[in-house]
Amino acid sequence: MNGFGYQKKRGGKVRKLVLILMLPFIILVLYYTTYKLFLVPPPEVDGMDAFRLLPAEKTVTLHGRNLKSITVSITQDLKTRELLRDEPQTIESTYTIEMKPKALGLRDGPAVVTIEARSGILKKAEYKIDAMVDTVPPKLRVLDAPSTVSQGMGTVALLRAEGADSVFVRIGDGEPFKAYRLPEGPDSTYVVFFPVPVDTKTKAVFYAEARDRSGNRTVRTLPVKVKRKTFRRSSIRISDDFITRVIYPLFSETDPPAPAEAFLKVNEEWRQRDVRRLAEIGRESAPRMLWRGRFLQLKNSKVMAAYGDRRVYLYKGRPISRSVHLGYDLASVSNAPVEAANSGVVKFAGELGIYGNAVIIDHGLGLMSLYGHLSEILVEKGQEVKKGELIARTGSSGLAGGDHLHFGILVQGVEVSPLYWWDKRWIRANIGFIGSYSKRSSGKAR
Ligand SMILES: [Zn+2]
Repeated sequence: MNGFGYQKKRGGKVRKLVLILMLPFIILVLYYTTYKLFLVPPPEVDGMDAFRLLPAEKTVTLHGRNLKSITVSITQDLKTRELLRDEPQTIESTYTIEMKPKALGLRDGPAVVTIEARSGILKKAEYKIDAMVDTVPPKLRVLDAPSTVSQGMGTVALLRAEGADSVFVRIGDGEPFKAYRLPEGPDSTYVVFFPVPVDTKTKAVFYAEARDRSGNRTVRTLPVKVKRKTFRRSSIRISDDFITRVIYPLFSETDPPAPAEAFLKVNEEWRQRDVRRLAEIGRESAPRMLWRGRFLQLKNSKVMAAYGDRRVYLYKGRPISRSVHLGYDLASVSNAPVEAANSGVVKFAGELGIYGNAVIIDHGLGLMSLYGHLSEILVEKGQEVKKGELIARTGSSGLAGGDHLHFGILVQGVEVSPLYWWDKRWIRANIGFIGSYSKRSSGKAR
């Protein structure tokens, strides 16, 4: 008995010891269970709106947080296909799902995407997304396009698209040049003004592309050949006097850089920045043609510099910078009256970097004219102007050695050679068909 009692006493001590030793473990298990049940952060899934419209091909990227498990499936006509199942071991997880509805046996029409995500035993989220499967690409046909174009030219093509949400032309995989629906023509006719930038390679390929709102696209190659053009080369001496008189006043800081460095900054860095600003300004244009006939050249003016001139700048006999001149420099008398080269709406009026005080007139469908280095601006943004209307006076603001007008033609925000746009015959031969086409087609429609 005694022994047993002793044993019992001893046994109690052991139990206590075991209990004490196990305590951290018990707390851990309790905490873990509580955590899993109540404290674990809820599951989060981002990016699932991309399932709403499902074209023939689409990559959907989902971002998950705190996921213990995730399943994604799509249901149509009571048939469910699993798209994803995973039990990630990390706090954050990213999934890319290649959606090809036809390969999944889905037909065009509504479907439901279900996402189930868990982060713990009780923390569960279920999302249902109404999806629309639409795999029919828009129809696209090239109705008219120039067979040859020159570097630095602005030109136009006529396209027919059906079921398209946006239509555009691009060079290689470059920026899209927006096509506009012809208001007078049938719904599916689009006109696109596009530039052939001065540095376009002769092997460049031009594409027309139509996209629908689901993201289906149809691409056609435009039968356009690029002709090389030789531009003038000139060298310009930069004097200290020019730096002090023209370059330094462009800097607002009290300590501008050394002369050659200051010139380089203005001529290259600022020029690039202004090219980007023009591209931005040129992006939004009136959806109809606001102009008619040839563009006007500054009255009684002499051409001081042409489009495409390749300039080398010499400072103390050493070449310090280069640029390509992207407009026409026209000189008349000081403060000469500047007239709107064609009818349109003032898109920009104010200070524009190296162009100084400038006016940009929107002629519609992505075509604009630019007037730089002005001493006085006589119009306001948003104002309608008629061809030949007085809009400004010439000057030497911005990067200009003396009083002159920098005249530019912008096609989709890219400066092209104004030469063609001053030429009545070129316009009639190359742009005239838009007017006749829209008349023809609206006649047919009636
Ligand atoms: Zn110029």
